[in-house]
Amino acid sequence: MAGVFQQIEQYGHEQIVFAQDRKVGLKAIIGIHSTVLGPSLGGCRMWKYSDEGEALRDVLRLSRGMTYKAAVAGLKLGGGKAVILGDSRTQKTPELLRSFGRIVEGLSGRYITAEDVGMKVADIDTIRTETRFAVGGSNVGGSGDPSVMTAFGVFQGMKAALKFAGIGEELNGIRVAIQGVGNVGYHLCSYLSAAGARLTVSDVYPNQVDRVIQEFGAVPVQPDQIYAVDCDIFAPCALGAVLNSRTIPQLRCKIVAGSANNQLETEADGYELFKRGVVYAPDYAINAGGLINVAAELDGYEHQRVVKQVTQINKTIASILERSKAEGLPPHLAADRLAEQRLAASASEKKAESSCCAPSHAPPVTGRPRA
Ligand code: NAD
Repeated sequence: MAGVFQQIEQYGHEQIVFAQDRKVGLKAIIGIHSTVLGPSLGGCRMWKYSDEGEALRDVLRLSRGMTYKAAVAGLKLGGGKAVILGDSRTQKTPELLRSFGRIVEGLSGRYITAEDVGMKVADIDTIRTETRFAVGGSNVGGSGDPSVMTAFGVFQGMKAALKFAGIGEELNGIRVAIQGVGNVGYHLCSYLSAAGARLTVSDVYPNQVDRVIQEFGAVPVQPDQIYAVDCDIFAPCALGAVLNSRTIPQLRCKIVAGSANNQLETEADGYELFKRGVVYAPDYAINAGGLINVAAELDGYEHQRVVKQVTQINKTIASILERSKAEGLPPHLAADRLAEQRLAASASEKKAESSCCAPSHAPPVTGRPRA
């Protein structure tokens, strides 16, 4: 892992923790990108990386993304993420999870962990036996499955995008093409169907598709046909990098608004959508409902308060799209600016408060997120 500090500097992190516990086979990296707005929060991913450099890059990229996501969502939280190097199917043991929990506890709340790829709710419960700083478990006060609130946030963001596009805020009769009807996609179908939208769906698993055909009268298409569906909204709810030079020319939608992370393959793809007049609701702004849901545990989970907060995604998307129009910037960059503005305002407030005493640990935040 040559140039570790160079990489850290490039992403602008406050702290990286490398942890090893040979007795239980734990190798983990925790990335604390920013605590400017509050303690850093982000999931722990367990993945069989091809090498340690790949693991470091992943944690740097993902934790920076969490800083932007929390800032745009208006949360008093910073960005963090953890990776455990290993195969979650064969190397995950209770001892390893508990050891990871002790490392998180040792950070005294600067990093709060949660579920991510390769981890389950039950694993968070195990981690919580060693640390207070884990959310998304099944214990009393736990927030439960985040995908319901993620879908609700996407639904709210869709309304804002429809209004911005001059179609009005009503979903009744609106044609939505949904790619991926797993956890989030399924709940999104439910909200949209109740609002009278007409659904076209694709998934690589026929049983997922059958469920939404039966429950919501959705019309199925083959996975590779979803991009070309003539519709008002295309909702990517499966994979990242689906907006690219191969798919964008196929699109026949007015709006792209879905839950998938990292939808744009490259920066240029964001410009291309903008040039074509497709209204894009930036992924990390519209899919923040799950983060808002899990973060609510920190103040004592109250469902109604979460619903109110997630409803605000409507306003967030509206203001990003207005800013994009006013500044002639693609929406993904307008979202970045909003996040950077909030971070800068909070950093200068903190600086003013503490100018007399403690040194600041927070470097300026630059560069757009990738998660
Ligand atoms: P999921 O795994 O439950 O669902 C994804 C679905 O996409 C699956 O049914 C899968 O079969 C399908 N799929 C995979 N490849 C496909 C393809 N080529 N074409 C069509 N369908 C395909 O995941 P999820 O929790 O619903 O998350 C969906 C997306 O939203 C992911 O990108 C995730 O990172 C993002 N996201 C989820 C949450 C959340 O709360 N779950 C929060 C924020 C972001």
